[in-house]
Amino acid sequence: METDVRRDYIDLIRNSGIAVTDEELDSLLLVDYNLGNIRKEGVGLIDIVYTDALRLKILTLLPHQTLPEHVHPPYKEQIGKEETLRVVYGTVRVYIPGKDTLSEGFVPSGKEQYYTAREEHILRPVEQITIPPDTYHWFQAGPDGVVSYAFYPQAVESYNRFRDPSVPHEIAPGY
Ligand code: ZN
Repeated sequence: METDVRRDYIDLIRNSGIAVTDEELDSLLLVDYNLGNIRKEGVGLIDIVYTDALRLKILTLLPHQTLPEHVHPPYKEQIGKEETLRVVYGTVRVYIPGKDTLSEGFVPSGKEQYYTAREEHILRPVEQITIPPDTYHWFQAGPDGVVSYAFYPQAVESYNRFRDPSVPHEIAPGY
């Protein structure tokens, strides 16, 4: 199963036309957030730059896969992590707090209480969105999946919080 999922991610990344090295592709990290159904809720990630000041990664979602709702809250003297997503291939639905305009996407079955941000933004290649710190958000791929760049000003991930209490803080890689 794991092998099949990894193969699907690699096919998606190769089909997207995004330029990556073999080493980067080998470093593809699959995250299921400890929820046990990665095709339903999960993400595939490749770190391109990961320093104390900057994190740039390739964020991929399989068709209709959902990255669960979470927030990057303030901590210590930091205002919290800002996040920018820029699409390279496919489409992604981005949800943030606001008017409930959810129409193309869907809340994963049985998870209604963990998906409260319902303002829908559909992004296609070269479109991007910047999510301010301390703002709940979740992502969902369209029918072809999505390959995107994700930019963050900080690499501290341990302060991210997910709506679903089944996601443990210690493994929350936070995206
Ligand atoms: Zn995030």
